[in-house]
Amino acid sequence: MLAVELLAATGIVAALALIPIPSANLAPFLLLTSCILVYSELSMPIERLRRVARPFVDLNAVWMFAGILLLHPALSAVVIAVSFTVQWIRLRPVPMFRLIFSMSATIVASYAACAFSRVTDPVPFERMTRDAASFGLVVGAGLVFLVVSAVITAVFHYFTAGHRRIAGSVATAGEQALEAATVALGILLAWALVDWPIVLVLIIGITLVLHRSVLIRQLRDQARTDPKTGLLNSATWAKDAAVQLERRATSALLMLDLDNFKSINDKYGHLIGDKHLKGVADVLRAEVRATDMVGRFGGEEFVILLPETSQEDAMAIAERIRRKVEGFAVDGFGTVTVSVGVAAHPEHGSTLDEVVNAADVALLAAKTAGRNRTLLFAAPGGPGW
Ligand code: GH3
Ligand code: MG
Ligand code: MG
Repeated sequence: MLAVELLAATGIVAALALIPIPSANLAPFLLLTSCILVYSELSMPIERLRRVARPFVDLNAVWMFAGILLLHPALSAVVIAVSFTVQWIRLRPVPMFRLIFSMSATIVASYAACAFSRVTDPVPFERMTRDAASFGLVVGAGLVFLVVSAVITAVFHYFTAGHRRIAGSVATAGEQALEAATVALGILLAWALVDWPIVLVLIIGITLVLHRSVLIRQLRDQARTDPKTGLLNSATWAKDAAVQLERRATSALLMLDLDNFKSINDKYGHLIGDKHLKGVADVLRAEVRATDMVGRFGGEEFVILLPETSQEDAMAIAERIRRKVEGFAVDGFGTVTVSVGVAAHPEHGSTLDEVVNAADVALLAAKTAGRNRTLLFAAPGGPGW
């Protein structure tokens, strides 16, 4: 963090020492900072709701990237700082050290973009000929900005989040696309400020609408998932699983229940119990295909629908999951085991409820037989009875 902050500070000092601030920068600088203040007021109701979820995405790149294209590097750093600080004062979503780091990371990314434009073509944005080559150059600067800030953010999350998996540290494809869209709007804004400043009003409107659609998507994702484990919640799972069951000729269903889980809570407390739940949920997700559906059925019960999977394959998958859970431990706070009931569609039921019920019967049999085992549903009177 210190390295990034030092780099940002050195960049500002070097830019001030090496490049004089053109007086023509004053108007766009004032306009952009006013934009940030106005926009932050207009978007506050949206942002208040949105910030509870993922922090990766920030639509402020619209103003920041316009600043990068139009302003002296030290002034664009001020625009970036204002943009971050205004939001932070109103919402305080993160501690101050995180604010300073995010700000510095963005300033470093802005210098990378700035260096890229100056090296490839020293003509400033407002005097560039509006041809394909300069368009390519400006888009290239946008890409440099996106890549550098994504890399710094990913490295930061990788080392601070405590998990050593890079996949969880980077923004999703959708989030990156949104970030790219805000940079693209920043290019349009810079262009408007040079040629037809009143268009700014339209860009603020477009950004607000984009902002709202991000909120709606986030709320929808939140409504589908269980916050403790990140798996599908039981209502969503049941709805989606019923659709899958209808569509596929064969499916299998696993019902899992942690063994003696109450004793983990009693021994270590419910927060450690929650860590076990989350860890097991991660194991389940990691052990199945992307098309399989993992849900949290209830407290410490999970369900997995395996479309196009035979009973035999489902049993093998269930056993693999059972062994993986057995091998998983919350550091210093013991291990848990899981019992699994397996049922198949259409052999053990024609509707989702019937198949869930069959898997539940098998699960109960696994519990009765001594726990930490996998059992396939055996119809009354059929083989296995
Ligand atoms: P078994 O299933 O092997 O019969 O024993 P068990 O102890 O797991 O049985 P039971 O189903 O009666 O208890 C489930 C326990 O799961 C009760 C509750 O304390 C715990 N539990 C349920 N939901 C949560 C949760 O969200 N967090 C934590 N920490 N514990 C939970
Ligand atoms: Mg249990
Ligand atoms: Mg239970």
